[in-house]
Amino acid sequence: MPSTSELESSSRAPPSTLRVCGGCGSIAPTRRRECQVCDAALDRYAHELRPERGGELDDVYWVAIRSEFQCRACGKLSPINHLELEGEATCLHCATNQAFDVGQWREALAHAHAVGDLSGPDPEGRRAHALLSIARINPMRELGVSETFSEHSQGGVSVEGAVTVTRSLRIRVSPGRPLDERGRPLALRRRPDARGDVIIASSTSEQAEYALPHQAQQLAPGLRGVIAVDHRRDRPPVRVQLASSETPAALRCPSCGAPLDPPEGARIISCRYCSTTARIPERTLVQLGQRPRLELWWLAFRGPSPLRLRLEAGDAAADEPAPQTELARLLGARADKDEDAGSRFQVERPELDARFDPRRFVVGLVVPIVVLLAAGWLWFADAASRWW
Ligand SMILES: [Zn+2]
Ligand SMILES: [Zn+2]
Ligand SMILES: [Zn+2]
Repeated sequence: MPSTSELESSSRAPPSTLRVCGGCGSIAPTRRRECQVCDAALDRYAHELRPERGGELDDVYWVAIRSEFQCRACGKLSPINHLELEGEATCLHCATNQAFDVGQWREALAHAHAVGDLSGPDPEGRRAHALLSIARINPMRELGVSETFSEHSQGGVSVEGAVTVTRSLRIRVSPGRPLDERGRPLALRRRPDARGDVIIASSTSEQAEYALPHQAQQLAPGLRGVIAVDHRRDRPPVRVQLASSETPAALRCPSCGAPLDPPEGARIISCRYCSTTARIPERTLVQLGQRPRLELWWLAFRGPSPLRLRLEAGDAAADEPAPQTELARLLGARADKDEDAGSRFQVERPELDARFDPRRFVVGLVVPIVVLLAAGWLWFADAASRWW
């Protein structure tokens, strides 16, 4: 007898190919010429990718995520470039450690799952139901057509039980596919593991392993994997020698203790003496006095999202936005103003291809010459008709 998931799967269309930006891996909307996440020119840098078939990553949706929370000490939006499940976050602007309500991820992850599952260009989303159409009521159908990402923010303070819960998480999510540092799709595998399911991502230069914490699947049952530096489990964290009155904070190799001198923004560093490669956790960067960076990290989901199921059940009001709280409004207003360089997303552009581009040649040279010739000929004809 087929299992429930097989029955579920057989009632849906196979996933279609996905066109992604070659700079950051986010979806390349059919009606846009530039990526809204990294500004790459989509007519020159885009990949048409087939969905994974077979194996542990069969039919997953990858989504790229940029996430921030509002610091309670300095009030700024601080990047939080990983799935924070320990209940404590560090502001990357002012280095204040503070409580972070893990329950915020529940709503955020449900939104991320919906983005992966319901995005266009097909208005039915990625895996349409054989009988039920949601094209008219799908709130994500512009993703992949005119939009690259969808934003979701939470705000407000509530009392749950005896605990005061502060919400201030903002995420921006785009469907897509993770790329390597040279802009090519990573080869991805998934390995179920008792300590947390592992994603193995290979490029031509390296292989990386990322573990999804156990609690994550309680928050989002469809979650299948994560790719973010702070989730790497094959690289030990560097040792931090805290600053004293005489010396600034310094990094040391976790295996031989030699000093490490990472370039600004580096998250992975190799020891010159023993070749151990270590990772630099997010909160260590701020101890070193580095500027906060908003990174793009990735989540994989599988199966229909909770929002799709509600839409298919005919709940047209399923996506009615939650009433905006005062803090959410504040957060939105601040986010518009807060676009200082540190809070903006930075991605390394693929190297611009300097080869001959026929379109530029036509627009830049041929068109002006034709216009000049035509104007010259008109002037000549006009002058000639007056002389004779
Ligand atoms: Zn991009
Ligand atoms: Zn702060
Ligand atoms: Zn070493």
